[in-house]
Amino acid sequence: MEIIRIDSVATAFIRPVEGVNAGLIHTPQGMILIDTTSSPAEVLSLLEAVDVRLEELQLVINTHFHSDHTWGNQELTCPILAHRFCLERMESNLKNEWSPHALQANLNDLKATDTKKAEDFRATLQVLQIKLPDQVFDERFEGELGGIRYEVIHLGGHTPDLSVVWLPESRTLYASDLIFQGRYPYLFDSDIPAWISCLDRLLEFDARAIIPGHGVMCGEAEIHALRDYLQVTWNLTAEHIRLGHSIDETADDPAYPVFSPNKYERLHQANIRYMYKKLIG
Ligand SMILES: [Zn+2]
Repeated sequence: MEIIRIDSVATAFIRPVEGVNAGLIHTPQGMILIDTTSSPAEVLSLLEAVDVRLEELQLVINTHFHSDHTWGNQELTCPILAHRFCLERMESNLKNEWSPHALQANLNDLKATDTKKAEDFRATLQVLQIKLPDQVFDERFEGELGGIRYEVIHLGGHTPDLSVVWLPESRTLYASDLIFQGRYPYLFDSDIPAWISCLDRLLEFDARAIIPGHGVMCGEAEIHALRDYLQVTWNLTAEHIRLGHSIDETADDPAYPVFSPNKYERLHQANIRYMYKKLIG
């Protein structure tokens, strides 16, 4: 993990190895944490690394419902703010993909494929008590703490509930999972055309610092790179469907854009298959 103090109000926890990034807003009246990582132990280790006590946190923001942004919530005692869709999706997940039965099935699958990951996941499940956001907003939340203004803006795209956090004075943008830097993005709850539009919206912020959900601090070049990846992959998949090609033939086409090899290589074909299924409805 790299901890980057962007300026007097903004910190970024950059964690390309661990998996997911997070953020911290500093104000004279306490702090705001942006996303809570994938486990109670992980979020506590972040706070420890910057020497922040739980009682200094005045607010937590969940940028979207994905477990790697919300499963540390239980350690926090302050209010948790999220878009209304985030709360609704977390509530429905508790009955479906986050039910004890479903999580146990996930663990069993992991045991068969990745014993190290399975051991970490088992340790998380032993203590996990998923905590829901208790403050919700629609469209946009404009807040102020200790004279520092912050905005939480609903955009969607990666997930229907995704929001970004914008610090207008600092011109810092916590873009959450609208940006995956240097690797294949995770698409499996996304609306691809909406995501592409969201990336265009991100460019309009004219941000001085951009913190992606995954990967290192980035600039507009990374937004363009992801936009191109999504648009080219989407268009090429539509063309394969128009030509009557099967999903397997389509996914094997070497003409698709690639990222340099890394541990998310499996998403290359998985993403094409997701788009194929979306396009054929
Ligand atoms: Zn996500």
